[in-house]
Amino acid sequence: MQVFLWAKEKELSDFGTLFIVATPIGHLGDLSFRAKTLLTEVSQIAAEDTRHSQRLLNHYGIHTPLFSLHAHNEHERSDQVIELLKQGQNIALITDAGTPLISDPGYPLVARCHKEEILVVSIPGPCAAIAALSISGIPCSRFSFEGFLPAKTAARENELSRLKEDERTLVFYVSPHRVVDELNDMIKVFGQDRLAALVRELTKQFETVLRGNLSDILKRLETDPNQLRGEMVLIISGLSKTSVMADNKQQEIEKMLRILLDECPLKQAVKIAADISGEKKNAVYAMALRLKKSIE
Ligand code: SAM
Repeated sequence: MQVFLWAKEKELSDFGTLFIVATPIGHLGDLSFRAKTLLTEVSQIAAEDTRHSQRLLNHYGIHTPLFSLHAHNEHERSDQVIELLKQGQNIALITDAGTPLISDPGYPLVARCHKEEILVVSIPGPCAAIAALSISGIPCSRFSFEGFLPAKTAARENELSRLKEDERTLVFYVSPHRVVDELNDMIKVFGQDRLAALVRELTKQFETVLRGNLSDILKRLETDPNQLRGEMVLIISGLSKTSVMADNKQQEIEKMLRILLDECPLKQAVKIAADISGEKKNAVYAMALRLKKSIE
């Protein structure tokens, strides 16, 4: 199979080509046939963690030499890769899992290649963000990939505030050590009612999708520590116009309840507020209880 030579520019250049190759995010069977052939045929493979990637190559009987290109050496390594490409070598870039550059190393190298007029070709395949979106049951016609949120709470809250009014679905990579803190911050900034999906361990034995509003998901994590294991993508629906209306209505009911609770018993306050607003009694009752608690 001819993997390299269908790009017209390639025929016109003495330079080699940089191939950006997606690798499995769990299930080893997800390496594409084209990716396997390509990784066998290139001169060298730049890998984020050579020991990790060696296991994938061994699995497929690929003997191409590996060298490291990771977050801490990618600027200097990119110079060396550019030299190899200029000498006419074809080089593949892979990372530990999924598509390089997507919350992974590779951007400086690709940018350099474009500057030097070296051809960059994609060998597409797994990407956790896209796989998670496609099974989340949350609208994915328009979405914003946000990668990892900052580790520090203040910076994280700033970032979330910037996203609060975004109507697109939001996609985050989350680490199991931070997911509870992150969900708490999201509830603080977005409110607890946004529909979300926590997609865990894609393509692996314990692949799971937890769906519900943000507080349902948080509760589930707090009561079932198994749900805190492994790799995760968190998908959150964007701000909907109806949720803005619901927010406004909620604020009005809360205002009414504050006044009524000063004047009459809880049951009566709930009945009056429900009658005036047309909201279900149970929902108004829950709001009144929350208010009473916050007042006490
Ligand atoms: N470049 C990769 C891609 O295309 O998906 C992402 C690399 S980023 C350093 C690693 C993060 O991706 C993990 O912390 C997790 O949020 C997500 N991820 C990777 N593999 C996953 C999997 N099998 N299931 C769920 N999330 C995964």
